[in-house]
Amino acid sequence: MKEFCEFRVQEQHASRLFAPCEGKKLGWTKLFGDKFVTVRKVELSVDDPKFKRVGELEALIKKEPHGFFFAGWNLYRRYTTEEIRAAEIFQLRNAPAFEPTGEECGTVYDETVACPACGAGRKQVSPLRLNLRKISKTKDLARTVANEWVVSQRLVNALVDANISGIEFQPVRHQLNSLVDEPMELEKTAAGREIIQSAADAGIELHSAKFYFWINRKEQREIVNAANKEFLELLQKKDTRRTSLLPCWYQMVVKSKPVKIAQSTKTGINPFDEDIAGKYRCRFGHTAGFSLLSELYVERNSWDKSDIALTSQLVGEKGGLIRPRPLILISPRLRAILIKEKVKGLEIEVAHLV
Ligand SMILES: [Zn+2]
Repeated sequence: MKEFCEFRVQEQHASRLFAPCEGKKLGWTKLFGDKFVTVRKVELSVDDPKFKRVGELEALIKKEPHGFFFAGWNLYRRYTTEEIRAAEIFQLRNAPAFEPTGEECGTVYDETVACPACGAGRKQVSPLRLNLRKISKTKDLARTVANEWVVSQRLVNALVDANISGIEFQPVRHQLNSLVDEPMELEKTAAGREIIQSAADAGIELHSAKFYFWINRKEQREIVNAANKEFLELLQKKDTRRTSLLPCWYQMVVKSKPVKIAQSTKTGINPFDEDIAGKYRCRFGHTAGFSLLSELYVERNSWDKSDIALTSQLVGEKGGLIRPRPLILISPRLRAILIKEKVKGLEIEVAHLV
């Protein structure tokens, strides 16, 4: 395993460590407090002596008013084929992010049950609502910037076929207050009423999670297309602004037993600051830190062997629309399916059971 860190170095200070041609200039970046700076993307191996220098320069420049050497960082690892083959579990670190968030689209959260200290534990009490037009059609797994994870119809089909455990898929609803888009209302079309009837005959409850799997399977495709067409015609008669139907997305709802983050996992504020004072560790134990600095280690006997699981402790902080988030673990089998299905833009790393 080789460990690397990608930094966003402030251009103003870059020459203190890097040659003019080193890294890639990214132009202007907006920072907190509406400050704009130019930054340069530089990737370093953590074994590179320059990596340590980045930390020293950051400590030095931070002493100046509003000073900093790097504005952002991402630690990541590359593995050999052998290391991947030997891994018992993986961490699904990231997927393509999009906006607006669920909260901005009318998803309701109960904040009264959240921890007053760290903001962890708010409860989603409505279906997830998003602007379904804003999720890239070329993606199959994506998340909002507030870490609401969604799965495409295509990937749901593959995961259901493979009997992936520990997960449920709830249909995502389109944002409220939208004049332009409307989900199809089955009961308004003849073909739709036929679908409702055959679902009832099969003992499937209308609008249940099972119903959405069933309705989107190959066997139902023809009749669903007919209902779509009929519904579109109906809408167009009523209102010329409504011209197309919405894509189908599902919220990834993880149902398996949460896994415990083990002591050997390192967290901190950045690669040079392990947050010794514990500013980002909730005194009630909800949050393990601001960010993960090492690979993820979890307690072996807390894992129920589901293909997907979340950690019981969270990382991050509360701010605006963002809340601390759990880390996601996936089995080698699920990882293999995501690769086979060519799911784009994921960051997956080896994790460890201890
Ligand atoms: Zn807390």
